[in-house]
Amino acid sequence: MPPPPPPLLLPAAPCCPRAAAARAASRFAAAASSSGGGSGGGGASTARPPPPPPRRRRGKPGFSRQSAIKKSFHQEQVVFSTPVAPDPSVAVIGGGASGLACAASLAARGVRAVVFDTGMHGLGGRMATRAIAAGGDQQQQQQLVFDHAAQFFTASDERFKTLVDEWMDKGLVREWGGLIGQLDAGGHFSPMPPSPPRYIGVDGMRPLADAILPESDLIEVVRPCWISKLEPFNGLWRLFENEKPHGQYDAIVIAHNGKCANRLLSTSGLPLLTRQMKRLQLSSVWALLAAFQDPLPIPQNDSCGTFGGAFVRDVDSLSWMANNTQKLFPLQTGRPECWTFFSTAAYGKRNKVPQENIPKITAEKVKEDMLKGVELALGLSRGSLQQPFYTRVQLWGAALPMNTPGVPCIFDPQGRAGICGDWLTGSSIEAAVLSGMSLANRIADYFASSGEQPEEFAIGLHEDLNQVEGHDIGQFPGLESQKPHVAEAQLTPST
Ligand SMILES: Cc1cc2nc3c(=O)[nH]c(=O)nc-3n(C[C@H](O)[C@H](O)[C@H](O)COP(=O)(O)OP(=O)(O)OC[C@H]3O[C@@H](n4cnc5c(N)ncnc54)[C@H](O)[C@@H]3O)c2cc1C
Repeated sequence: MPPPPPPLLLPAAPCCPRAAAARAASRFAAAASSSGGGSGGGGASTARPPPPPPRRRRGKPGFSRQSAIKKSFHQEQVVFSTPVAPDPSVAVIGGGASGLACAASLAARGVRAVVFDTGMHGLGGRMATRAIAAGGDQQQQQQLVFDHAAQFFTASDERFKTLVDEWMDKGLVREWGGLIGQLDAGGHFSPMPPSPPRYIGVDGMRPLADAILPESDLIEVVRPCWISKLEPFNGLWRLFENEKPHGQYDAIVIAHNGKCANRLLSTSGLPLLTRQMKRLQLSSVWALLAAFQDPLPIPQNDSCGTFGGAFVRDVDSLSWMANNTQKLFPLQTGRPECWTFFSTAAYGKRNKVPQENIPKITAEKVKEDMLKGVELALGLSRGSLQQPFYTRVQLWGAALPMNTPGVPCIFDPQGRAGICGDWLTGSSIEAAVLSGMSLANRIADYFASSGEQPEEFAIGLHEDLNQVEGHDIGQFPGLESQKPHVAEAQLTPST
């Protein structure tokens, strides 16, 4: 057997990479033979499709594009009163499920979209998969594959079902036949019903993110790129990564949340969007990826066998565990078992550190706590769990929304800016995709309107946020959570 690689710290998913290389990679190089001028995206090809037929213009003919500034709520509210360009473009800041769905839906409505994302390894945000080569020489290397955020998804809305069907047709998605259930501390497992169906990415979650985007000249992707500044200028939004300009756009979409979004919005001139974003509360969840040479001693269910995933109850350091090897390679034998473990949100909160810079001592402690949690959940005696030959820990510092305004998206027509994301209606991939679709349609409708009553298109600017019910890793129909009863001893913070 090759010598075990040392435990590694997984760098946090880049949210605000301060020194991100500004390499623009256009997946969908615009190949239209007719070139267009006007606002361009991120330094890659900016060729435009043929312009649509002339539209009714707003405002006086010859009126120059200007943005007016009006005082309101702590910041100055930007008010764009000038006509929208005949072939408008939208900057989508965030390439997770919501931002990608937004860009795809904008393109479907004939609106150009440029997606900016910080992802060093790929698009997808919290739809994240890691493939790691572990082992000694090349011949003995083993691929360890982990979904290290979203584990599976359900589909209840027809619009999302259509997308899932497309993924199925392309062979990217299949139903997860694995047994899922609830694991109470001590190894007591109760299966959950197989319906509604649960889906997984055949090669993990991340490839699905790419598949959200259709091949279209109307979509451009710029990655890795961290947009750090928004500036209204001459009736358009200008975007910057540090001081580097990244084009100008008729509207912007904030398709991410947390500290990054709060910082970006705080000087944007969008006080209503800023206020809604600031109201959002997010949980923190630790992920432990661990590979074991031998199968874990999972309790057998007489009728159904061993489980593939379990919502864990009564264990403070553990809320979910899933066997990625069984999930992604169900027909292969002899592979090491790759498990994804998630802490509870309560544990994540108590043990929160800056996710970009996790102290080694914290990473070690979290790993120990979570492996002890696995023993407790499986009813194993202390110290009897086999040592994983590979581990990584990661903190999802802005893991899941704890409150929601319950609207599909937020749009401020005066500022020509919107927000989409899972948190608008809940906490799942489905919620994120639907939010992106919704905002795209809202923006496209606004662009297509005469512009006489922009306020008709406003949505979500004043709603209060209410608590989200669900599991620590999201809300799933048919898998409603019961309140965890964390054992008293487990609640004591370890020092
Ligand atoms: C631990 C965990 C487990 C989960 N399990 C499940 C599950 O099993 N099933 C399920 O359905 N859901 C699950 N979820 C939730 C699901 O992953 C999310 O709801 C969904 O992926 C959110 O998509 P989004 O587009 O709203 O945000 P994100 O996926 O967070 O996308 C935002 C993107 O914006 C980028 N970004 C941020 N700031 C900037 C900037 N300034 N410039 C450019 N780009 C920027 C980020 O890097 C990121 O790629 C889980 C989440 C976590 C954390």
